[in-house]
Amino acid sequence: MTDFVHESPPMRVVLRPGAATTATPDEARRLGLRRLLVVSGARGADTARAVADSLGQACAGLHAGARMHVPVEVADRAVEVARTADADGCVAVGGGSSIGLGKAIALRTGLPLIAVPTTYSGSEATPVWGLTEHGAKRTGRDPSVLPRSIVYDPELTFSLPVPLSVTSGVNALAHGVEALYAPDASPLIALMAEEGVRAMARALPDVAGDPASLDARGRALYGAWLCGSCLGATTMGLHHKLCHVLGGTFGLPHSETHTVVLPYALAYNAPAVPDAVAAVARALDADEAPTALWQLAGNLGAPRSLAELGLKEADLAVAAEQAAGQSYANPREVTVDGALAVLRAAYEGGPP
Ligand code: NAD
Repeated sequence: MTDFVHESPPMRVVLRPGAATTATPDEARRLGLRRLLVVSGARGADTARAVADSLGQACAGLHAGARMHVPVEVADRAVEVARTADADGCVAVGGGSSIGLGKAIALRTGLPLIAVPTTYSGSEATPVWGLTEHGAKRTGRDPSVLPRSIVYDPELTFSLPVPLSVTSGVNALAHGVEALYAPDASPLIALMAEEGVRAMARALPDVAGDPASLDARGRALYGAWLCGSCLGATTMGLHHKLCHVLGGTFGLPHSETHTVVLPYALAYNAPAVPDAVAAVARALDADEAPTALWQLAGNLGAPRSLAELGLKEADLAVAAEQAAGQSYANPREVTVDGALAVLRAAYEGGPP
């Protein structure tokens, strides 16, 4: 029976080579913004400087203070900088960490945000914020942190190293895969998720083969946008929960962890969601979706096991308890034994 709710977020998206410096000033004008604070991480400061310069008089300053997982003191400092600069808006240039800082500013001040992403994390397309305090990451949803505009410029991703491009791309795939079996998916989200998985899975080998291919980089950003939009619109399940525990409690790296865990989480859920698995398989042009995901990442040289990422065997049981001990939407019941089996398989890294 057809039965759904769908809400389209109020957001403009521009994807074009050179857009970071040509479209960002236009987006600022459209939004009526005249004093924008540009934020980035230390490594992305040169790119952020170019964006800041393109804004001319509409730039109120550049703050290159973003750090992974948005520590609360980093957010406090950025809010202070925005207030001192009397900013009326914010432009976040960088990966999920920089966009996360822009969202923290938006959450506290209500300033509108323009996102200029340089990875495939998808944060730019969601109303989800995250802040880390005393080693624990809090997340929440708030419409005020959803960027008003996203400016995708494939040229900004030329510098993203191939290993990080691959794992960041699989991080995006994970959003699309879990959206396909989310309890709050809609027919439009299902279309976007399948197309997002298809676009990203086809783009990644081309990106790895020629990291300076404008075409491949553009298609990867297109996939990232679709998959990120699915993340923003739905509730994620077991895969994202496991990765949250592995990153939050054991300090495992974000996109690499998503890359390792995804085939096993999908294999666990597969019996409960045959239609979703069939959609992923169609998108990957494969018979077995979990195996195809495992092969895609492995063929592109991505890490295969949680052991490689530094997890200790003794941590598996603790992680399984944590992942099973919380309530969240998942198409198949998550028992401690079930979570442990997924984690053990991911720890070993063999075929799912
Ligand atoms: P990131 O922003 O920390 O970037 C990873 C690394 O890549 C950093 O060292 C960064 O300096 C570097 N980098 C980024 N772009 C580059 C480029 N073009 N060239 C060269 N180096 C580049 O990580 P990420 O994977 O983009 O994002 C992960 C973070 O985002 C996590 O904290 C995660 O929780 C968060 N996230 C949030 C959401 C959300 O909806 N709120 C969604 C996805 C991810």
